Amino acid sequence: MSSLTQDAGLYWRPLGGNNIDQISGHSYQYTCVLHKNEKIKISTIIVDIGKFDNHQAFGIKNSIAAVPDVRDIIQNKDLNLKAVFVTHSHPDHLNGIIHYVRAGYKLPPIYGGKYTKMILEDLYKYYQIGKINQPTFIEIEEGQIIKCSDIEVEVISASHTCFDSFGFIISACDTKVYHTGDMKIDPTTYFRKPTNLKRLKELGLKIDYIVGDFYSIDCDGFAWREADVLKTLVKIMKKSRKSKIFLPVYPTHVEMYIVAFLSALKMKKDVIFYGNADFYSYLKQIKDYGIDFCKISKGIIKVIEGVPEDIDAFSKNFVVIGAYNDIGEWFNDSKEDSFAIITAQTFFNPLKGQMNARNIKFVTLADYPVLQGAGHGHLGDWEQILKILPSAVYIPTHCPYFIAEGFRELAKKLGFEMIEPLPKNNFMYRFKGKEYTEVSAKPATWLIVNSDAIFTEVWQKATSGIGYLKRTISKKRAQRKFKMMLCQRVKNR
Ligand SMILES: [Zn+2]
Repeated sequence: MSSLTQDAGLYWRPLGGNNIDQISGHSYQYTCVLHKNEKIKISTIIVDIGKFDNHQAFGIKNSIAAVPDVRDIIQNKDLNLKAVFVTHSHPDHLNGIIHYVRAGYKLPPIYGGKYTKMILEDLYKYYQIGKINQPTFIEIEEGQIIKCSDIEVEVISASHTCFDSFGFIISACDTKVYHTGDMKIDPTTYFRKPTNLKRLKELGLKIDYIVGDFYSIDCDGFAWREADVLKTLVKIMKKSRKSKIFLPVYPTHVEMYIVAFLSALKMKKDVIFYGNADFYSYLKQIKDYGIDFCKISKGIIKVIEGVPEDIDAFSKNFVVIGAYNDIGEWFNDSKEDSFAIITAQTFFNPLKGQMNARNIKFVTLADYPVLQGAGHGHLGDWEQILKILPSAVYIPTHCPYFIAEGFRELAKKLGFEMIEPLPKNNFMYRFKGKEYTEVSAKPATWLIVNSDAIFTEVWQKATSGIGYLKRTISKKRAQRKFKMMLCQRVKNR
């Protein structure tokens, strides 16, 4: 069921990540068709196989996940699938792999960073998949160039909210694509390499296409930097003048553990890591990865996991970093000496009640939106990329179709050349240098996975994900935002 034609070129197809609501479950096909000595030579790679979380919306019994349908790429020998490249370890980019392996599909070697490997190994353990059934994993680092038949892939680092996030420069058939992965520019970093603008500048006009993370394209200015979050935390702590700070972080938000720790260190406050099972398992991974909190503290502050037996003997000046629905009675806190900084939207609602019950003052995201951090570039980030890569055709991904469409007018004013028509899942394009054509536009299917690893094929439909999007960003609101940005830019000219 391949939509390839015999014409030479680099074929690109999003399998997930490009629709009204299925903006997760990322997966992208790159196939190079070459004409050599009157023969046709084909090679293929996949970038990411994620999962889509809102599987319940499809109404399939016992479902546990939905994954993009890449079966034809894996099984069609003519496509010569050489590798799966994984940009980073988040479930919407990685976890589809596990379901294909569980269902008995043979995958080619998987290329990803050290942290991605750690998370994948955890998934194998969870689903009890033995070594013999695991596809080969090849650890990659920034700057590496991997040749997969006629496709060349260069690894380039990306600023995002987890370790080892990568973008890829994909070269084949006289065409160069910058596949950004989840990415913001943020040059400030405490635990990873930032987006490599220097390398992008070197590539400059050579980049023909950008398959870009447009998740936050409707937000103006630059995405918040790690340094902004740290600065704000320190400022709030200073202003509170309290000795005991409660600083809950979102369990999967690794970046925040480290930034929160650094803010405590800056304030010379001891650190108590205290949370639920989820929190401790992510904390363990951070440490296994090589982050040594005691070493970073250089003996200036004390660091402990879990509540010390005698809290007063341990410290009277500390920060409790963790995810907790109940802060208990362990910390001898009182409204005179305690303060809370609540850094995520919904997860910590119970905490507000507890703080209120204790008369402990707190601030939330409503007071300091920056505390949310950011993993995806805003419009400002993309305007900077445009300066560096001015001649590329921009291909939006990771964003609802109506947002990409709403962006079109502003994009034109700003000088972005957007691909035409905008891609939806399962649309296929052929690139040849700067020229491109849409070769097919079939509706997409998804595979719903049940607990026995059986797949059920369904047509993609608008799911209750739309409800989710409506809560976060509606078409109308997005259009209003883009109009406003356009007005501002016209005014400033
Ligand atoms: Zn991500």
